[in-house]
Amino acid sequence: MSGNLFEDTDSILSEERIFPPTSEMVAQANITAYMESKGFSDYDSFYKWSLENRFEFWDDMAKKLHWFEPWTNTFEWTNKPFFKWFTGGKLNIVYNCLDRHIQTPTRHKVAFHWEGDDGQTRSLTYEQLYILTNRFARGLQQLGVKKGDRVAIYMPAILEQIVAVLAVARLGAVHTVVFGGFAANSLRDRIIDAEAKVVITADGNYRGGKLIQLKKITDEAVLETPTIEKVLVVKHLGLDISLQEGRDVYWHDLAADIPEDTFVPCEPMDSEDLLFILYTSGSTGKPKGVVHVHGGYAVGAATTTNFVFDLKDEDIYWCTADVGWVTGHSYIIYGPLMNGATSVLFEGVPSYPNPDRWWSVIEKFKVTVLYTSPTGIRGLMRFGEEWPAKHDLSSLRLLGSVGEPINPEAWIWYRHNIGRDELPIMDTWWQTETGSILISPTIIQPLKPGSATRPLPTIEADVVDKNGQSVGLGKGGFLIVRHPWPSQMRTIYGDPARYITYWETLPDVYFAGDAATIDQEGFIRVQGRVDDVIKVSGHRLGSMEIESSLVSHPAVAEVAAIGKPDPVKGEHVKVFVILKNGFEPSPELEKELKLHVRTSVGALAVPDELEFTPSLPKTRSGKIMRRVIRAKELGEPIGDTSTLDG
Ligand code: ATP
Ligand code: MG
Repeated sequence: MSGNLFEDTDSILSEERIFPPTSEMVAQANITAYMESKGFSDYDSFYKWSLENRFEFWDDMAKKLHWFEPWTNTFEWTNKPFFKWFTGGKLNIVYNCLDRHIQTPTRHKVAFHWEGDDGQTRSLTYEQLYILTNRFARGLQQLGVKKGDRVAIYMPAILEQIVAVLAVARLGAVHTVVFGGFAANSLRDRIIDAEAKVVITADGNYRGGKLIQLKKITDEAVLETPTIEKVLVVKHLGLDISLQEGRDVYWHDLAADIPEDTFVPCEPMDSEDLLFILYTSGSTGKPKGVVHVHGGYAVGAATTTNFVFDLKDEDIYWCTADVGWVTGHSYIIYGPLMNGATSVLFEGVPSYPNPDRWWSVIEKFKVTVLYTSPTGIRGLMRFGEEWPAKHDLSSLRLLGSVGEPINPEAWIWYRHNIGRDELPIMDTWWQTETGSILISPTIIQPLKPGSATRPLPTIEADVVDKNGQSVGLGKGGFLIVRHPWPSQMRTIYGDPARYITYWETLPDVYFAGDAATIDQEGFIRVQGRVDDVIKVSGHRLGSMEIESSLVSHPAVAEVAAIGKPDPVKGEHVKVFVILKNGFEPSPELEKELKLHVRTSVGALAVPDELEFTPSLPKTRSGKIMRRVIRAKELGEPIGDTSTLDG
């Protein structure tokens, strides 16, 4: 970490462009209907009301779900910071995803259209998903899985991955999904930490044409995991694999004796019973096992999916994340299913076989709502505008972004090339720990490139100094949230002390670990992680701001900025630059880029060192790992790299 954690950051990026919503968007929005039911016609006054009436708001949202028994207390804070929501209530999130819908016409609607890495497709209706989930749940019961047991899921993005997640939760067991691109040691560590009893995997899969031997990797991981009793294997490719007698079972062998009409009732769960453990992406350090529960998490995921993505019955929604990340949990599986949506699930990668793969998926399924990441957008920007231009993307009506700050020019590229200069972009800020989106525009609010804009209803986000005082408009500081919210994590699995630090770094507020500013017009901009802030001549600069100034140059696709010790300035800026296709590194270009930073954001941010590079170290979810770049550059130990890609 550079400098002292507890200093304000400076804001160097100024962004004037504002994109207001159209009156049609406002009129038809899901959130408009709710606001009107409470007597409001504008977001700001509704938001103010929500801060004073947060329990009324969340009661209203929770009532939209199915509960076996209603809650008696909306919120309990007797054992701070181990907050509880909807206590006394009983529900199962899976009942809300499936059982509820098969009692309505949604039964015959497609839940998922799947496209494989090789282009083959398969779709499941809600009814088919329900049947499969029931049968899979019975299979898991036969392997001894019961309420409270932990089950690891190490699978590719195939429909059975969704089924596995839902079947585990249906039984009241706890899933821990491990991204199918992780190596054996990462899988092993997560299984050990979660004390999982069963692991569900597949024989293997292709990702970007590359074979991944999931079962083999699982075998290697399980050699060192004392708790695993059974390995359940889904046959996806038909690879020749070995099954260990007594431990390993093929799903289709188990399924042969489980009838189509098998019904395994949803286990009635207390609101505060565990739903899943998910390990964070590890951008800043060792991954933590973030714990979420059935009640508050369900309410948060359902509400935000409805308000932020504004889903309607006819929408075809696609979130490009992997189920192995929290975005996949909340916005591929739980949020969309609770809303009865039709989604796309994609097994492949954006640039295989060509850099228009995503755009072809959108065209094929007539996707209307696209939720993706800055790293995805920047990666495809690199190949040029001609790739999206080959496809009919006219079905799209709403775009989203998550995972990192989106550089304003990447935002503009996204809106121009994918959103035909008219679609709204929901830049959604949240974390594994927050469970669901906390800061984001909705379709009725004005947008600003590079800004997640305003907090959602009841979310009291602020930017504060080291004493927890608001820094005021235009100044940088620490992003915090002042009051608990339903979908917040309940603890870090096996490490409650680590959980407590989130609420005690600054007294009584949630410390997010991101640097941010709120500009003169009230737009929140996340400047990067607190750990990545660079201190130059007494100024603290967010990594995103320096990087964004370079990304706005036409030759540049991606940038990582780090601070290096400097005898005069304290630290100076070094940037690593990936050029767009068609540009070559040269001393002239280096000069031009430095000049570009000087004229676009000022002398302070001009990098002393600039290195052209073909790639940057990223987490497997695609986030730039500045910590790793810094350590390599300074010859320091790199630390935990279990989540490093490649
Ligand atoms: P670790 O906590 O283990 O270092 P991580 O923070 O990358 O990993 P996640 O929970 O997946 O794990 O990511 C949350 C972080 O991603 C946020 O704290 C923030 O830094 C960044 N982020 C997510 N969405 C946005 C966004 N819309 N704008 C800016 N930053 C974002
Ligand atoms: Mg984090």
